Amino acid sequence: METNLKEKLWSWEELEETLKDRYEDPDIISVRLAFDYASEAHAGKKRYTGAPYIIHPTATAIRLAQMQLPLAVVIAGLLHDVPEDTDRTIEDVEAEFGADIAKIVSGVTKLGKVKYRGIERYAENLRKMFLAMAADVRVVFVKFADRLHNVETLFAMPEAKRSRVAKEVLEIYAPIASRLGMGDMKGRLEDNAFKYAFPKEYKEAVSLLDQNVQVREGDIDKTIDKAKTVLESDGVKIEQVKGRRKFVFSFWRKLKRYHGDLSKIYDIVAIRVVVKDVADCYAVLGTLHSHWPPLKGRIKDYIAQPKPNGYQSLHTTVFDETCGIVEFQIRTHEMHEQAEYGVAAHWNYKQEGSEKKFDTMPWMEDLVDIHKEISAGEDFLTHLEEVKLDMFQDRIFVLTPEGDVIDLPEYSTPVDFAYAIHTEVGNQTVNAHVNDQAVPLDTILKSGDMVSITTNKSRKGPNPEWLKFVKTNQAQTKIRAATKSKVKQWIETMSRKK
Ligand code: MN
Repeated sequence: METNLKEKLWSWEELEETLKDRYEDPDIISVRLAFDYASEAHAGKKRYTGAPYIIHPTATAIRLAQMQLPLAVVIAGLLHDVPEDTDRTIEDVEAEFGADIAKIVSGVTKLGKVKYRGIERYAENLRKMFLAMAADVRVVFVKFADRLHNVETLFAMPEAKRSRVAKEVLEIYAPIASRLGMGDMKGRLEDNAFKYAFPKEYKEAVSLLDQNVQVREGDIDKTIDKAKTVLESDGVKIEQVKGRRKFVFSFWRKLKRYHGDLSKIYDIVAIRVVVKDVADCYAVLGTLHSHWPPLKGRIKDYIAQPKPNGYQSLHTTVFDETCGIVEFQIRTHEMHEQAEYGVAAHWNYKQEGSEKKFDTMPWMEDLVDIHKEISAGEDFLTHLEEVKLDMFQDRIFVLTPEGDVIDLPEYSTPVDFAYAIHTEVGNQTVNAHVNDQAVPLDTILKSGDMVSITTNKSRKGPNPEWLKFVKTNQAQTKIRAATKSKVKQWIETMSRKK
C-alpha cells in the first residue's frame, strides 16, 4: 500500500507552457475557456488523494498537447469528464464549444460506459467499442491520455480498483496502442500498469534492468562518440545519436521469451541514429558496418518492409570491443515520430491541411484521410462507406444499460437489439429508449448508442409489422415463428368457439 498520496498538481500554467512550447501561435484563449469551464463544472470535487479534480483533465490535456494534436483534441481532453461527472450535459458542452468538440467528448463518455464484468467478456466488449470509436480516432487519443494519467496515478485510486485498472491497461489499452503504432504511449501504459498488476515481477525487472544499464552506460557513451566520429568523417549528416533504454515491461516480456537468458537480449540499451532522409539511413548502415562487424541475421530492414503498425527503421546488431554486442536503430525524423506517436503523428496540428503522406497501415491512412475530409464538412455517410477495415465494415456496436456491447449489422433497430439479447425480450418488446430518450421501434441505431427495451410479460407476441424494418435474420426468424404460431392459435381458438 502506497502511503504517500501526494500527486503532482498539474496546473493551467503548465498547460499554457506546453502549448507555447509545442505549437506555433496557439489559440490560448480558447483552451483557457475550456479550462475555466471544466474547473467550474468539477468545482468542489476531489480526487482520492484530496487534490482538486481538475488536475486530471489538465494532465490529460497536457499529454495531448505534448503529442501536438489539434487544439480541438486538447480542449476535448479538458472537457472529457464533464458530461459524465458533473451536472453539465453534452448538450451544454456542444452549445459552448461546438459540435465537433462535443462529438469527441461524447465518444470518450461512451467508451467509459462499457462496464467490467469478468476480464474476457469485458476485453471483448472494450475492443469492439474501440473499433467502433476508431471511426473518430481522436476519441481514442483522448481516451489513451485519460487512461495514461489514471495509470500514472494509480495510488490516487481506491485500492480495490487498482489491480483491475492495471490489468485492463495491459490486456486492452496497451495492445491497441501498439496496433496504432503509438510506441511511447504503449511503453508508458505498460510500465505504469506492470507495477501494480505484478508488483513482485516489476521490482525484479527494474533491478535487473538497472544493473545492466549501469554496467553498460559508460561503454555505450564511448560507442556513441565513436559512431558520431566515424559517421562525420564519412560525410554522413546526422541529426541525432542517442542511447535509449528499453521499457521495463517490454524487457520483462523478452526475458521470459528467452527463458531468463539476459545475454540474448541485445537491445536493453540501443543506439538510435536519426538522419534527414532514407538515403542517409542506408549510408549510416554502410558506414557502421565498415567499422563494426554486423552479427549474422540481425540486420532488419523495416524501411523496405514496415511492421504492420507502420513502424519503420533499419536495425543492426554489431560487435564492439568495449561495449560488446549493441543494437543500432537508424531512422529519419518522420520515422521517429511515427515510431513514438504512430497514427497520432498524422494528426499533428502542423499537418492540418497539408498534403504530406507517410507509408502506414493502409486502413489507418484511409481513416485519417476520411476524417480530415469529414472535418472539412463533407458528407459523413458516403465517406464511411469507403472505410476499408473489414472489422467494422457494415457493423455497429451498441450498449446495453449494463454496459455490454451488442454487435449488430448496420441499419439495425431496437427490435433487432431486443432479439439479440433474448428471444423472450424480442417477443415481449413494447417500448425502446435510445440514450435515455423514448424512440419508435424502427429507429436506426448508431454505434455507441445505449439501448434499453421495456418488455411486457403479458404481451402475446411480436407485431408482424416489425418484419418490415428488422435487419437481422435472428429477428426475422423469431418474429415469423412467433406470429405463425399466433395465427395458428387464433385459428384454433376461433374454430373451437364455433
Ligand atoms: Mn478521466
